[in-house]
Amino acid sequence: MSGDCGGALPPKALEGLKLFNDKRFFEAHEALEDAWREERDSIRNLYQGILQAAVTYFHISRGNYEGGIKMHERCMKLLKDYPDVCRGINVGKLKRDLEAVNAELKRLGEERAGEFDPSLFKELEWNERRLWLCDLCGTQMVEKNCKITCPNCGNRFDCSDLNLHFD
Ligand SMILES: [Zn+2]
Repeated sequence: MSGDCGGALPPKALEGLKLFNDKRFFEAHEALEDAWREERDSIRNLYQGILQAAVTYFHISRGNYEGGIKMHERCMKLLKDYPDVCRGINVGKLKRDLEAVNAELKRLGEERAGEFDPSLFKELEWNERRLWLCDLCGTQMVEKNCKITCPNCGNRFDCSDLNLHFD
């Protein structure tokens, strides 16, 4: 089970994605581990997969050939069943980037792993959804076509009402 791809990302996961794109792979791994630990749904496997992508890049950036190959394998096992977009994250692109990195690492081989070009560590892409919490019951609300609805108590408003607060 790959879990529900429709929801929003929790703050810790978002933090991990941003750190990943800053090429701070160790810190990205820590933030994603927090997101993974706090999640009970099977969507936690997605966070773990991206976490392992960060660890793969971390190993390779330190010239660790064996670590990079092994972690890539574990990572692809977790990510392979996810659709191209899940939780707004472009998982398809991540998988292609990981395969390109793995192919280049294998081409270099163990002897020359230290020469790996870090510009091949491509950025993650995602659509950041705003996370709404119901002011009546605290449940996470669902945004669709500018209508924001609480699945628990039915509280709803229109996103155009909110712009007044945010502008
Ligand atoms: Zn509510």
